[in-house]
Amino acid sequence: MKVAVIGGGINGVMTAWAFARHGDSVDLYEKGHLMSATSRASTKMLHGGLRYLEHGHLALVREALQERSWWIRQAPHLVRPLELLIPIYRNGERAKWLVGAGIRLYDLLATGSGFPRSRWYAAADVAESFPGLQRNHLLGAYGYWDAQMDDYQLGLWAAEKARESGARLHEQSPVLRLDPTTGEVSTAGAGACYDRIINVAGPWAEELLIRSGVTSAYRLDLIRGSHIVVSGRLEQGCVLQVPGEKRILFVLPHGEETLLGTTEVRQESTEKCAPSDDEIEYLVGNYNRCFREKIACSDIIGSFAGIRPIVASKTDFSAASREAVIERHDKLINVFGGKWTTSRALAEAVITKSQH
Ligand SMILES: Cc1cc2nc3c(=O)[nH]c(=O)nc-3n(C[C@H](O)[C@H](O)[C@H](O)COP(=O)(O)OP(=O)(O)OC[C@H]3O[C@@H](n4cnc5c(N)ncnc54)[C@H](O)[C@@H]3O)c2cc1C
Repeated sequence: MKVAVIGGGINGVMTAWAFARHGDSVDLYEKGHLMSATSRASTKMLHGGLRYLEHGHLALVREALQERSWWIRQAPHLVRPLELLIPIYRNGERAKWLVGAGIRLYDLLATGSGFPRSRWYAAADVAESFPGLQRNHLLGAYGYWDAQMDDYQLGLWAAEKARESGARLHEQSPVLRLDPTTGEVSTAGAGACYDRIINVAGPWAEELLIRSGVTSAYRLDLIRGSHIVVSGRLEQGCVLQVPGEKRILFVLPHGEETLLGTTEVRQESTEKCAPSDDEIEYLVGNYNRCFREKIACSDIIGSFAGIRPIVASKTDFSAASREAVIERHDKLINVFGGKWTTSRALAEAVITKSQH
């Protein structure tokens, strides 16, 4: 089968690799450089997503927890297990019992994944791991395990695997139009026909369809997430609860520095994606609320933002499922949404959908 994959983020790369492994002839088209968009601007966690349990997305969490182990087995040089602490305060956003119940469920869903189980740390132990953390009313912390990756290098590693399996990866090759009936993919000055076209253009998937005159049953919400980098080396990660919100923030080791993120802000177009002043203030403010050693905007040594392509929800996009939707129109398969962690499983699901 001749397959065109549109988009060179992690979902495109993993899809190209999966088809090539199955013996198909694969061309991947990327308008810029591989792994240069959303997939490089993630929080860099290979995780089940503890907070998705609150929204009842158990199947997604379980799948992601198992996929996390696949990544660590395949590329241990680019993925490492990381312990994260969730500090619990008297009168905090979530009661100790509630966080404890979530953590135990997370452990249960991760059964067989080879990761250590979670545990409770007394306040004195937490103060040792995170000396800068606010100690007033601190009861202790739950420690649980996930994995941290170098998203860019891991994506390039997967791209190399795709190439080794025979996929042709074309960079700086924007797809201008596609045709679900004939299987034609048009790039600047050229066109080729395929048995299957996989539209994995991330946040751009919908606009490519509009440009091609294809109607889809789905719409994408474009939700920007921003991160900042400040100095200071950490050994563990920390999960901060945001007062009055269901959201959490990660404070993570990032080489010799600390990564803090993320936000969720609706974005109207795919054109410009950068952290706004408000988001930076939000991140700095929440960090300063939880840590005794304050940071200022001038302490920020780096920042980046990415757009989450989330299948449109009329209500709370923070609660919207990160589960991907796969839609088929004749020779065209559209992929909307998804998580970095589950990109391998998504690619396998695309292959299943592309048969017959
Ligand atoms: C702030 C943030 C934090 C996140 N953190 C995590 C995390 O910690 N863990 C996790 O599992 N997930 C995380 N995610 C989700 C994850 O990053 C995304 O689901 C994933 O990267 C999406 O990959 P993609 O390949 O679909 O999209 P992208 O990486 O955006 O790739 C799409 C590609 O398509 C290309 N393209 C677009 N239009 C065309 C065209 N017409 N022709 C050719 N090429 C085209 C683009 O240039 C782009 O390279 C996060 C997302 C965000 C935004």
